[in-house]
Order: sequence, then structure tokens, then C-alpha cells
Amino acid sequence: MNISTPCKTIRAVDELASYDAAILENPDNAQRSSTGRRSKRAIGTWSKFWGNGRTLRIAFVDTPTQTKRLAIQALIKQWQPSVNLHFEFIDQGESEIRISTSSATNDSAVGTDALLYEQHVPTLNLNIEIGHPEFEATVLHEFGHALGLQHEQQHPKANIPWDKPKVYEFYKTHFGWTEQETDLYVLTPLGGSDHLWGSYDKDSIMHYPVPNELTTGDWEVGINTKISMLDRRVMRKAYPKYRSIDAD
Ligand SMILES: [Zn+2]
Repeated sequence: MNISTPCKTIRAVDELASYDAAILENPDNAQRSSTGRRSKRAIGTWSKFWGNGRTLRIAFVDTPTQTKRLAIQALIKQWQPSVNLHFEFIDQGESEIRISTSSATNDSAVGTDALLYEQHVPTLNLNIEIGHPEFEATVLHEFGHALGLQHEQQHPKANIPWDKPKVYEFYKTHFGWTEQETDLYVLTPLGGSDHLWGSYDKDSIMHYPVPNELTTGDWEVGINTKISMLDRRVMRKAYPKYRSIDAD
């Protein structure tokens, strides 16, 4: 089994600051649950989408080759048709999203959590070279986090038939993860409303691969390499393109 070290997402150290930043940026992040009650402020129960229609300034904190920089930018732009956001790639000045291309990990802050870091701190880390078979998928995946998406295998309605002892063993053997880490990043479903999740989607670019031997019965997810139709649907819902009634 040859898979890359899974992305863990950069978790906000201060959950209260994370909540406040999310709500200040976009009040719709304080979603009500399906029962109509306002969500409790607990991990994963609010979304972290940017203010709809805003400009996201994106910078590189290091100096990738021009080829690599353009490749990353082109992949990021694949998200553009599905969001009402403007991506502005800048060379200097303040930015919301800061990319490091020489990191030890592939991971990203989720949406507005990027606002919690000082301007010299990267918010999206890449540790992958052009030509690697998962280069494109990795950049698309990490920028999905930067837009506010969480890991699809932790969708509240995923119901993946995990063979848990095998899952713990797999992540321990391949990546040195503790059971707590495997619970946190793989097994435990997250909270959050339908606004955040949409329908569970095995094809999501935000889904970890699920090898068949880690499930009971015949169930697996391969390495997803493209932004799926349902990924785009969630983005369109989070960042709708308003059309004035008076237009035309
Ligand atoms: Zn991830």
C-alpha cells in the first residue's frame, strides 16, 4: 500500500478565537442545526466560510519556481467557477492565505481559521513536487480546506463500515499515528449543519482514500483526483452568485 501521509488540517489552537473569527467574517457561519436550534459552540459545529463576494489575497511565503507557482495557481483557479470569491495572487502586502511550498507536511487551515495567524505564518503547506502523481489532487484538496471544507470521511452521515482495529493498526504502522490521532482525523464524524456538508460524497476531493482492507464487507474509496460535482454544489451554496432581481 503506497499512499502519501494524510493531511491533518491545521487545527485552531484557540476554539473561541476560531468561532469569533468565523462569525465576524460571515455571520452565516453560525448555522442552526436541522432541528432549528442554534448550534452549540463546540468543535466542528460552525462553518468557517469566508464572506461571500470577498477578495481572497493569496501569497507565497517562499520562492517556488515560476513553473511550480503557475501550476499551483492554475489548480487553485479550478475552484473559481464554483465560488463567488475573487482570488488575487499577490507578491507583497497583507494576505488571507499564505502558501508555503517547502513544508514538511501537506495541510491547511480551514477557511477563516487562516485569520488567526500572523502575516509571516503560512496557512497552507505543501510538501509535494510537480510530477508527483498526487500533486494536482493535493493542491486541490488543500485549497478546499482553505475555502472552508472539512474532510469528507468525517461527514456526519458518512457511515463508513470501518474495521476499526485494522484502521488503528494501519495508521500506526504507516504514519506513526496514535489511536487518538486516528480517531480525530479519520474515524470520528464531525458536527456541523447541512450548509457545511451537503450530501455525503465518496468522490469528494476532500475524502481520504479508504483501502478495502480497512472496511468490513466490500467497501473502498480510491484516490480522488478531481473536484467532484457535489464539492462544487457545496461551494455554490456557501458562496452563491447573487443576481439582482432588477438585473437585465
Ligand atoms: Zn485534508
